Amino acid sequence: MNNNNTLIVGSIGLDTIETVSDRKESILGGSATYATIAAGKSASVHLVGIIGDDFPINGMKILEEATVDLSNLDQKEGKTFIWGGRYAEDWDNRETLFTELGVFNDFNPILTDKNKEVPVIFLANIHPLLQLSVLNQCNKRKYVIIDTMNLWIDTEREKLKEVISSCDVLLINEFEAEQFTRRKDHDDQGTVLQSLGPQNIIIKCGSKGAKLYSGHRVDTVGVFPVKNVIDPTGAGDAFGGGVASSLANGETMIESIINGAALASLTIEGFGIDTIYNASINEVEKRKEHLRTTLNS
Ligand code: AMP
Repeated sequence: MNNNNTLIVGSIGLDTIETVSDRKESILGGSATYATIAAGKSASVHLVGIIGDDFPINGMKILEEATVDLSNLDQKEGKTFIWGGRYAEDWDNRETLFTELGVFNDFNPILTDKNKEVPVIFLANIHPLLQLSVLNQCNKRKYVIIDTMNLWIDTEREKLKEVISSCDVLLINEFEAEQFTRRKDHDDQGTVLQSLGPQNIIIKCGSKGAKLYSGHRVDTVGVFPVKNVIDPTGAGDAFGGGVASSLANGETMIESIINGAALASLTIEGFGIDTIYNASINEVEKRKEHLRTTLNS
């Protein structure tokens, strides 16, 4: 196996997104989809997930293009995961309109022998029990990165704690960090979250950038200035995909958050996966150059 492999598990779905100026129905989405498209630009992605028999052929083509291994992508009779979200004018408040797990309801993946050996594992946002079941099958773990969301903090706190305790890098946004730790201060949130196990905590702060708590160090990265935000969906997942692909390429934690921030900035410039899918490596590199100048400033 090459040495820049990363295993990604999470949702693959069809999203309906409403912004103040537009609405798109049943477009390709899902945490693993965004993460895979982002990570696939520089790493070899092995995707773990499930789709229904209604999944569009074009979506399949995009997943094939972004990955090297789809042996753990199942297609079953039934409905693909769907999610609907609505954004307020300031982008900060997103309301979930519906979530239907569809074929994810009884998804219990058995990893292929090859996938069990992938060293960098990104457990993108999905039910913590599914994250745990995939993680428990991985036997050559070098880096385990996890992302989550408010829903699981509310409903599956204990299982989520279990996943967090076995990971090396926790990705969490600032609202979720407050919800989980019940602390307002980022430094306090970082300390509480590190005490659960992971040495690296990345707190994503939207348009304010991100903070990395790594051992006793704290580093900050800003954002790439995006002129026109079109749809922020998937920014967090693309960020996570960027962290995973950097680590799979042997880069440092700091470089990994720069890569994550560059890929996130590309995601929000278009609807759904449009801009992140079409972004060139050159554009990603250009954004990373800029983001390096924002480190700890
Ligand atoms: P983000 O904007 O980074 O929070 O990610 C948005 C993506 O997460 C969308 O494409 C949704 O399909 C997916 N998503 C939303 N809710 C869930 C959920 N409960 N489990 C898994 N994926 C979800």
